[in-house]
Amino acid sequence: MSAARHLAAVAEPATQIDYAFCRHPGYHPGPGEPSFWEGIADGETRRDRDRRQAIAVKLCRECPLLAPCTNLLSDLDDRRLAVDGVIAGQVRQWRTRTKKKRPRTPHLS
Ligand code: SF4
Repeated sequence: MSAARHLAAVAEPATQIDYAFCRHPGYHPGPGEPSFWEGIADGETRRDRDRRQAIAVKLCRECPLLAPCTNLLSDLDDRRLAVDGVIAGQVRQWRTRTKKKRPRTPHLS
């Protein structure tokens, strides 16, 4: 679950959440592109993801909601809820790419 969705779930109705940089349309690329805060996107290289998420980390450090967001992340950690992407300036990853299955080596007996 993305940071923005976690925050939207716990924030006061239509108040503070509106100031979250991760919700600002100006910080989102075009349609079909992952936001800076998203976890790894399909077909994206690790290098591209790292570059993209580094921007999110910088923006989080300037976000007016950094303190409550940090508390939220701590709460999520306490409840062992996985986060994928950038939240409160921290990169989290719980998804992994789907690995291609290696062909089985036939048994010769
Ligand atoms: S600190 Fe980062 S993840 Fe948290 S609300 Fe701000 S921009 Fe979003």
